[in-house]
Amino acid sequence: MTKFALAIHGGCGVMAKLDLTEQEWQEARRDLGRALEAGYAILAAGGKATDAVQAAVVVMEDSPHFNAGHGAALNENGIHELDASIMDGSTLAAGAVSAARHIRNPILAARAVLEHDDAVLLTGPAADRFAEAKGLEIVEQSYFTTERRKKALAAMKAHAAAGTLEQAREAEKHGTVGAVALDQHGHLAAATSTGGYNNKPDGRVGDSPIIGAGTYARDGVCAVSGTGKGEFFIRHVVGHEIASRVAYLGEDVKTAATKVVMEDLKPHNIGAGLVAVGADGTIAAPYNTDGMFRGWVSDDGEFFVASHDEVFRYEPRQK
Ligand code: ASP
Repeated sequence: MTKFALAIHGGCGVMAKLDLTEQEWQEARRDLGRALEAGYAILAAGGKATDAVQAAVVVMEDSPHFNAGHGAALNENGIHELDASIMDGSTLAAGAVSAARHIRNPILAARAVLEHDDAVLLTGPAADRFAEAKGLEIVEQSYFTTERRKKALAAMKAHAAAGTLEQAREAEKHGTVGAVALDQHGHLAAATSTGGYNNKPDGRVGDSPIIGAGTYARDGVCAVSGTGKGEFFIRHVVGHEIASRVAYLGEDVKTAATKVVMEDLKPHNIGAGLVAVGADGTIAAPYNTDGMFRGWVSDDGEFFVASHDEVFRYEPRQK
């Protein structure tokens, strides 16, 4: 069988180990495993990398444990504005939506932009209208809201009022979901979806829908999906920077990804992490926070999921 690989992340805004019950940790790991299963099924059957990353992201958008779709962050006005993008490394075709308020699965809208529109990025109410016109599921804001995000918003507002933002925990700040894949045809793809960070300004758009920053894929080079304070991913054009290091300096994907997270982003004192896959199927998942929800599987069919240092083997429901 030709080599294929899939890596996912559920954000680097991971809670301290004691913040969740053992059952909640298990559920989050189970949902990571299910996201891997969804993408793996497509790749193992000879399907496309774009379909695999999309399928994996949909599972994480539907899970309340990650900051995307159901369970997304709230902005300063208590509103969900969702960003997502997807890129096909074989054609460099890309689609994205930003500040969407009513699309149940923003990654499906990003894919619809990739497939059906001249534009790469649609924003705000127009993105919602586009998704509805394409027959995608439209939901009320309340669908996205969870108790955990309401608490996180209250905590961030309290930090802002007290001038203690520096002390805010990563989990109170942000999170994102993303996936990268290499398919059996040698094609690469990346997808990312997020609610942004808690208490973000009205109308703020992060790196996740910005091609080259939070999401990037180019055949023969690598695919990247990022998580962390998006403003710095935009300034460092992180996805494209890693691809450039691989393409022009000849670095392997692990070296390039680790350098950008640890040497470019870390000095800004921000939480940052990403998953990347190289043209040979090598997977990298560096992060500079206490933890990052993540998982990976390749053609050997061994599934792995993790939140902090410890890596767990995940038993798929069917292979
Ligand atoms: N990158 C996301 C954003 O800035 C947030 C995150 O991944 O934590 O919107």
